[in-house]
Amino acid sequence: MKVAIIGGGITGLSTAYYLLRLSRDKRIPLDITLIESEGRLGGNIITERLRGFIIEGGPDSFLTYKPWALEMCRELNIYEDLIPPKSDRTFILWKGEFYEVKHLSVQSMIKSDLLSLKGKIRLLLGTLISQGDFHKDEPLGKFIERKFGREFKEKIFEPIFSNVYAASVDDLSLKATMPKISLLKKKITSKLPPFMSLRYGMHQLVESIYGKIKEDVKIILNHRVVNVEPLDSGYYIKTNGGSMRFDKVIITTPSYITAEILGGPTGYIREALYSIKYSPVIVINFVFNREDVGIPLRGTGFVIPKNDGFTVSSCTWTSSKWTNRAPDDYILLRVFINLKIDPNEAVDRAYKEIKEIMDVKGRPLITKVFNWERGIPKYTVGHIERVQSLENHLLEFKGLMIAGSYFKGIGVPDCVRQGKESAKRIISAL
Ligand SMILES: Cc1cc2nc3c(=O)[nH]c(=O)nc-3n(C[C@H](O)[C@H](O)[C@H](O)COP(=O)(O)OP(=O)(O)OC[C@H]3O[C@@H](n4cnc5c(N)ncnc54)[C@H](O)[C@@H]3O)c2cc1C
Repeated sequence: MKVAIIGGGITGLSTAYYLLRLSRDKRIPLDITLIESEGRLGGNIITERLRGFIIEGGPDSFLTYKPWALEMCRELNIYEDLIPPKSDRTFILWKGEFYEVKHLSVQSMIKSDLLSLKGKIRLLLGTLISQGDFHKDEPLGKFIERKFGREFKEKIFEPIFSNVYAASVDDLSLKATMPKISLLKKKITSKLPPFMSLRYGMHQLVESIYGKIKEDVKIILNHRVVNVEPLDSGYYIKTNGGSMRFDKVIITTPSYITAEILGGPTGYIREALYSIKYSPVIVINFVFNREDVGIPLRGTGFVIPKNDGFTVSSCTWTSSKWTNRAPDDYILLRVFINLKIDPNEAVDRAYKEIKEIMDVKGRPLITKVFNWERGIPKYTVGHIERVQSLENHLLEFKGLMIAGSYFKGIGVPDCVRQGKESAKRIISAL
């Protein structure tokens, strides 16, 4: 039985890892091939280890209340390399002042001076009235404003939530994102910190999976899949370096690529995949001399409400948030811009704004830019139904599966889960 996994991001790697494990456990021999267009594995997960700095271009951590990435770290024997953030203090920058928010708890927001008295009363009222009709989908921002008031939405909810999805809460689906909100409560009661990272950076996860699969999974790098064509039995995969036939195929590329490569009578599927949009994210890592930064960095960083006049939407104080990310005399920052602009202009604007906000004296010693033009998939209104409908249409194509961050969860843990579920489905169908 020949199985192809297209895409070597965390979804594809997790699929390969669990498929290999299950085939061994159940003594089902499988011939597994992973095809990746780039010369490296990891997709969005990219860590640069440079002169004592650990610089992340994509994710810098993952949620712990979604257990799948944690479980995988345990299985890969890298659980002891998980590191918690050094602080749980995050700030909102509003009109030149930093306001601390802890755990998004109502008490901390009532105590904070960020909201006006009217805003606080409106927020409290929102906690007393019913949650509303969750069965109907609508923009998340509209729901939050109706329930907790405009001030809470604009000054607190939007900047924090947009930081995760890189999109305005007015563009996101309530139904597709709401489970995340109710889970926010869980993180307060859990013994683990809400986010964790890995000692050597997020790519350690990729390297550890690679270590477990490299002997038994055929990994083909630098081969771009251009077409997946259904045959009477199985699929024909065409790449820029040749063609191969497989019995089962799991496509884990971003939705717009999956749409492009799917051949055969897949009209609805392609259209639905094309309709999933992505938000741009520019990640700029700056290294400064510690003595050049004028403000104390006692926390994990700050977010900026979108109508406060800045291009920068948030900044992680990486060297204060995690151990082991920068030598002692330096400060490593990760600045986010959620706009599609020229990366050089992004760096100029980011430097100017960070200099002003953080009272920086000198120039950055290192600048590393990662420009994700289609960075984070947007779960817009109707996402859950779109996914369901896509799954129904895919039933026509036996042995073909799709998975990835655009589909059933945007973060690393959800991608690991999707990989695990795809592997289980393949094995149980044999
Ligand atoms: C800036 C940024 C910050 C983030 N921060 C976090 C965070 O802190 N925590 C968190 O949990 N998540 C975060 N995420 C989200 C998370 O990184 C992604 O959801 C996840 O890594 C996506 O994995 P994937 O395998 O689904 O897709 P990808 O990583 O996109 O992998 C797809 C792979 O397919 C390959 N490919 C593309 N076309 C072809 C083709 N034609 N043929 C063969 N291969 C092809 C690509 O090269 C790539 O390797 C962040 C994402 C970004 C962009």
